[in-house]
Amino acid sequence: MKEKSGNDRDKNTLLSMADNPNFIPGIYNYCDRWCERCPFTLRCMVYAMEKEAFPDQKSRDINNKEFWQKIQQSLVLSNELLRDMAKARGIDLPSVLPEEMARKRRMHRKEAEQTPIARQARLYSIGTGEWFERHEQLFKMTEEILTKEARLGIKEPELTTVNILEAVEVIRWYQDQIWVKLMRALHGEDQEEELDDDELQDFPKDSDGSAKVALIGIDRSIGAWTQLSENLEDQSGSILDILANLGVLRMKVEERFPRARSFVRPGFDQEI
Ligand code: SF4
Repeated sequence: MKEKSGNDRDKNTLLSMADNPNFIPGIYNYCDRWCERCPFTLRCMVYAMEKEAFPDQKSRDINNKEFWQKIQQSLVLSNELLRDMAKARGIDLPSVLPEEMARKRRMHRKEAEQTPIARQARLYSIGTGEWFERHEQLFKMTEEILTKEARLGIKEPELTTVNILEAVEVIRWYQDQIWVKLMRALHGEDQEEELDDDELQDFPKDSDGSAKVALIGIDRSIGAWTQLSENLEDQSGSILDILANLGVLRMKVEERFPRARSFVRPGFDQEI
């Protein structure tokens, strides 16, 4: 009997994971990838796979050569599995994307990048990075005030500190993700339009799911900026400008993807 190669063993491990009824199918497609805060880690196949591939801090270090080798291996493996599954159904997948299809994808991506929604989300991402650079001094000043309050035993400096740290963490987490998810929604929407309507009408649209994740990121960012403005002595009014811009972006996304809010994300929006 022929001995199984390492690759076959990896494929089998992946397939047996995919068969595990404990995992919620597709839950990882519409999450915010904040696994440390996710209540579904034990029900998520991607989390299990990542834990197996990157068990410790060192293996997750992006400066580590092994990290990138693992990423490459898992991409090759997923590609092979996809091909095996297609072959089993009598479909022969081309090894490279046909030029016409690749050209269309590039075109859709460029079009998506130029939409007012994508441009505003990109500006938000860049602007947020710049805001934190410009306000370094404000954070230092606030830290000094809070340290003084703690020494004098007045007010609630611990609570204020927790509120600020939490708000910053949330803002930083979603800062780029809002744009990334909106790009996926806009790009996906173009591709969905190319398909026959009948093919799609019974299925929830991936573009709505991605837009929903972006909207949740915007909601949470608005909450976090509000929390930051309540706990920092920012006299410049710059946070209010950011909040106003995020509010407009949220409105535009809801207009463009009117069914996004009602999209049911596997796991997160279901009774489990
Ligand atoms: S569903 Fe939860 S555990 Fe899985 S990838 Fe998303 S955030 Fe991480």
